[in-house]
Amino acid sequence: MDRQPRRGWMRLLPWLRLYRCSNCNRMRLLSKQKVDSARLLNAAQVRARGG
Ligand SMILES: [Zn+2]
Repeated sequence: MDRQPRRGWMRLLPWLRLYRCSNCNRMRLLSKQKVDSARLLNAAQVRARGG
């Protein structure tokens, strides 16, 4: 997922981050904690595949 530039209205929701899903290209609002854990999981899977 790609981090998207912060928009004006997002300042109202500082605990959320806007991301674009690399699978379906949709914008998603996720909490940073959720994204961080998903990233760690994804990184572990990439390492497990050897790349
Ligand atoms: Zn998706």
